[in-house]
Amino acid sequence: MSPFHFSRLHKEPLLLTPGPLTTALATRKAMLRDIGSRDDSFTAINQSIRQRLLIIAGAEKGYTCVPLQGCGTFAVEAMLSTLVPRTKSCVLVLVNGIYGRRMAEILDRIGRPYLTYETEETSPPNTVDINQILIARKDITHVAMVHCETTTGLLNPVETIARIVVSQKRSLLLDSISAFGALPIDVRTIPFTAMAVSANKCLESVPGLSFVLCNQDTLKKMEHNAHTLSLDLYAQWSAMEKDGQWRFTPPTHAVLALEQALDIFDSSGGQLARLTRYRKNCSTLMEGFQQLGFTPLLPTTLQAPIIITFLLPPISLPNFCFSEFYAHMREHGYILYPGRLTKMNSFRVGCIGNINQTDIIATIETARYVLYRMGAKVPTIS
Ligand SMILES: *Cc1c(COP(=O)(O)O)cnc(C)c1O
Repeated sequence: MSPFHFSRLHKEPLLLTPGPLTTALATRKAMLRDIGSRDDSFTAINQSIRQRLLIIAGAEKGYTCVPLQGCGTFAVEAMLSTLVPRTKSCVLVLVNGIYGRRMAEILDRIGRPYLTYETEETSPPNTVDINQILIARKDITHVAMVHCETTTGLLNPVETIARIVVSQKRSLLLDSISAFGALPIDVRTIPFTAMAVSANKCLESVPGLSFVLCNQDTLKKMEHNAHTLSLDLYAQWSAMEKDGQWRFTPPTHAVLALEQALDIFDSSGGQLARLTRYRKNCSTLMEGFQQLGFTPLLPTTLQAPIIITFLLPPISLPNFCFSEFYAHMREHGYILYPGRLTKMNSFRVGCIGNINQTDIIATIETARYVLYRMGAKVPTIS
């Protein structure tokens, strides 16, 4: 067995991680330009990006897109801080992983009442339960949930829950950070009040820029509600509506990169094409890594084509050491992602980013070689 064919020695390493992730060279090159934050062309780019994200979500009517300096968590925190009223509110947070728990943590910090509905990391929430909780607890005003829980790769039943939330006349606050751009999200089928998204996941741009897509009438009522100055969505939005300017220094290079990433997104076939590519990445990875002895955490019915969690050790190598495997994969130019399960040993491999079948096959073959060198009994390439 020779790894040389697949080694990325003279190339940049491939990030098989859920953000920052592998971006197109053109996206990175778009950043090689300094641009004034008050330049008309920069203002035009901002407005166009905001509009393009609304179009991806089918939310051109009645919704606005508010950009924020910072990673995805900043957008989630801004969404919760601005849109959950200081009084007479209570948020039901659906938790089955780190990101659901983080929303509860944010609400705790900002002192907004909430309760959590928690399921195992391998279980989506029971939609019948959610309906009953909303009937029983009239004090609940909002439901907050994660679309694809990146902790595991689990796809939550966001469409069904959105319908329940609306029929019970509550508001849905959605963290779609790891799904937006790949999984279908249309406000006409998933009626969210607000949704947090990020530039550096399925839109395949660089980190440092995130957004909240928000019902405009709801946002208009939220002046002075946020306890935080820099994460006040209302203030960010009203300043931007006034003269197209960001309130504070914008991440100009990240904005330029996202504009380019969105051009690539559109010219390569948009959301559906991206989903198709990620699905193919996911199924190839799943099959290849299973052949090498790794067991996936989730059944395929719950698996989103975003990131896969594999349990450790693999059956091919009972005394497996992940940090050794990681280091060897890294040497060959493949960056894996450690696991974050509370109860089991695991690691993760991302399906998203500017990566395709060839990259995935190279990843599998490199893993085959590395495992073999570590003493595993793995099937050789046929
Ligand atoms: C990546 C991600 C976030 C944001 O994480 P940051 O580290 O702040 O970028 C939030 N929610 C989900 C589901 C994510 O995958």
